[in-house]
Amino acid sequence: FCLAAMVAVVMTGCGGQKDTSSSSGGSDKQIKVGVSMPTKSLQRWNQDGSNMEAKLKEKGYDVDLQFAENKVEMQVSQIENMITKGAKVIIVGAIDGGALSSVLDEAKSAGVQVIAYDRLIMNTDAVSYYATFDNYGVGKIQGEYIETKLGLKEGKGPYNFEIATGPLDDNNVVFFFKGAMDILQPYIDQGKLVVKSGQKTREQCATPNWDEAKAQERMDNIITSHYTSDKIDAVLCSNDSVSLGVQSALKSAGYGAGKAMPVITGQDANISNVKAILAGEQSMSVFKDTRALADQVVKMVEAIVNGKEPEVNDTKTYNNGKKVVPSYLLQPQFVDMSNYKKLLIESGYYKESDL
Ligand code: BGC
Repeated sequence: FCLAAMVAVVMTGCGGQKDTSSSSGGSDKQIKVGVSMPTKSLQRWNQDGSNMEAKLKEKGYDVDLQFAENKVEMQVSQIENMITKGAKVIIVGAIDGGALSSVLDEAKSAGVQVIAYDRLIMNTDAVSYYATFDNYGVGKIQGEYIETKLGLKEGKGPYNFEIATGPLDDNNVVFFFKGAMDILQPYIDQGKLVVKSGQKTREQCATPNWDEAKAQERMDNIITSHYTSDKIDAVLCSNDSVSLGVQSALKSAGYGAGKAMPVITGQDANISNVKAILAGEQSMSVFKDTRALADQVVKMVEAIVNGKEPEVNDTKTYNNGKKVVPSYLLQPQFVDMSNYKKLLIESGYYKESDL
């Protein structure tokens, strides 16, 4: 028994993945890491969760992976449970970034370190680090794509244009929206992009919960009220679920059949959306390689449990109202018909047969 305990000490070192300093007579307890993901209803979070679970397990951690069905109370109680069960680090993809302050206070008092995953957690000093993609960059890529495809730089236009973004409680949306509108707003101001619905603010263009059906309903209304005789030339959609909703509304109004589909953006490169790209119904998506994000977060966890400072590359962008959270930002890339094979298939992200 003693020998086994000693071997474990030698193999894992101090402060590494195995907690050998336990008072229960040298037992070999694994360090617990909680992973709290928002929902299973969207492809990406399933991938995020399983990537992280696999990579953390590979490093020897005891992983508690939970999904919260987009219900804030459920996420709060799952996090509480992780704290009670003795997690050392908890990774949170927040549903509502503003609703976790009190549960994170509990985490802080229990000495748990919290990493915000993909979405920033707001109004708390109990979040230690943030790992995400350059969210402003995501919006910029979408805006530039529309700019290029419509030939706006070359002075073409005017074009009819609509916007569909994400929920107001997701801090990422502030960045997605700003990144895209910094490119596109000047064309609206010059009259080269005409928003016939008049809905141009983030609030007016929001989609609660990133819900596909809600995006579809809003676009149905816009089409019925403003586009009975005119055609829509481009729709800025902040992500893939919103994009699918918008595409359904357009298709039921006859686009894609007689009328050409507008230029439509997306984000995540979900399988259904890559299929829509191949079918000519969606123009592009933004590929955020969730494998790379999971790798980065695992590195953060490793640093934290070894008492080191995790690597970050941004210490000024993400102010959550209480502090600027040290962040690691990964680079997003556009994906469309021209490069999907290289980005998604050759990289092993998807198999050709998935599509
Ligand atoms: C993520 C996107 C995702 C959206 C909906 C955002 O916070 O950054 O990748 O499409 O949430 O889940």
